[in-house]
Amino acid sequence: MSKNKILLAIADGVGDRPVECLGGRTPLEYARKPTLDALAATGSSGIMDLYKLGSPVGTDLGHMLLFGYEYADYPGRGPIEAFGEGVELQAGDVAFRANFATVDSELVVVDRRAGRIRQDTDKLAAALNGMQIEDIRVVFKEATEHRAVLILRGPGLSEEISDTDPKVEALKYKKAKATAPTAEAEKTARILNQFLLQANEVLLAHPVNREREAAGKLPANFILTRGAGIMPNLRKTAEDLKVRAACIAAESTVLGVARLAGIKPITDPRFTGNIDTDIALKAKTAVEALKDNDFVVLHFKAPDLMGHDNNPEGKVKAVETFDRLMGFVMEGLSSVEENVIVALAADHSTPCERREHSGDPVPVLISGRNIRKDGNTTFDEMAAARGGLNRVSANMFFNHLMDYLEATKKRGN
Ligand SMILES: [Zn+2]
Repeated sequence: MSKNKILLAIADGVGDRPVECLGGRTPLEYARKPTLDALAATGSSGIMDLYKLGSPVGTDLGHMLLFGYEYADYPGRGPIEAFGEGVELQAGDVAFRANFATVDSELVVVDRRAGRIRQDTDKLAAALNGMQIEDIRVVFKEATEHRAVLILRGPGLSEEISDTDPKVEALKYKKAKATAPTAEAEKTARILNQFLLQANEVLLAHPVNREREAAGKLPANFILTRGAGIMPNLRKTAEDLKVRAACIAAESTVLGVARLAGIKPITDPRFTGNIDTDIALKAKTAVEALKDNDFVVLHFKAPDLMGHDNNPEGKVKAVETFDRLMGFVMEGLSSVEENVIVALAADHSTPCERREHSGDPVPVLISGRNIRKDGNTTFDEMAAARGGLNRVSANMFFNHLMDYLEATKKRGN
């Protein structure tokens, strides 16, 4: 018998509630989706609580849970964004979300986004990266547009410090303050405040800003920070299980969580993170990744966006596009030698009526030659609730998948 491999396709935010304009059906119930239904007919479905019924989770935590982490492992937005920008954090690092901003000579914020700077932020970031303040090293990396990530690395740091971003213009930046009475928090605030002033000096003198000013643009002469988070000592779940894994996605958050878990992130500018993403290329990339990996995650963002927009018709289209994506995947799998088990899941529900993530369970499915068939012939929230997998948590679902790779431990004798 050939070895098993797993392709896990995640339809972001696909779970929904009955929608009036769809005749009281959910977008998943309403959509035409021959491939998803065929997968249901050749496997077992169920419903999954990412964490607990009624506890909504974000895309970052939802994916962490799907990749085998515990709820309490969540390190905060700053560290996740750093991983999303390709910075590998070490335990004890404190990461911040940062903006390039414009301040005047009194350090009053003129523009929180430095005129929505898009170009040359890599050069500005390089001028700040590697700075040393006391025994702390600064790691600074540009992100999209005016965004960046700041990491403080060294002994005795804390995440318990306040934001320096005043959130509105015409106010002076806020000095970082310790939000807990500890030496670590005091030290982190002191280092961060020192960094902000030194960064201001470096940026004021930087040729990129001289050129911007000469061209009548706002200089990116200050860094504003928020969302401090300390990196806990987290295991890399996929590496721990010795599973070779890859994740195909557009969204940096998802790619970051994958990197955190020891899952190789794969992306392409043609993956847009929206309904116009190149689904043929995405499917091809996923199938190719199965050659070198045992566990391949394929992420599709559009259903979540339609839920946030309260656009049920758009969500139906997103489901139908996801179905076509899976159609391309199934075609491609005929070229893979090993037995590929196909699993479907979501990272949370995003009901249209709610316009936000909810704690409703999501439908899941596992399908393949050697998977028990539960008699379901459609894939949607209600059919899944009657399926053979019953009700599982994200951790149970991940464990179940890993067992097909024989990566989970036998206990007892
Ligand atoms: Zn999501």
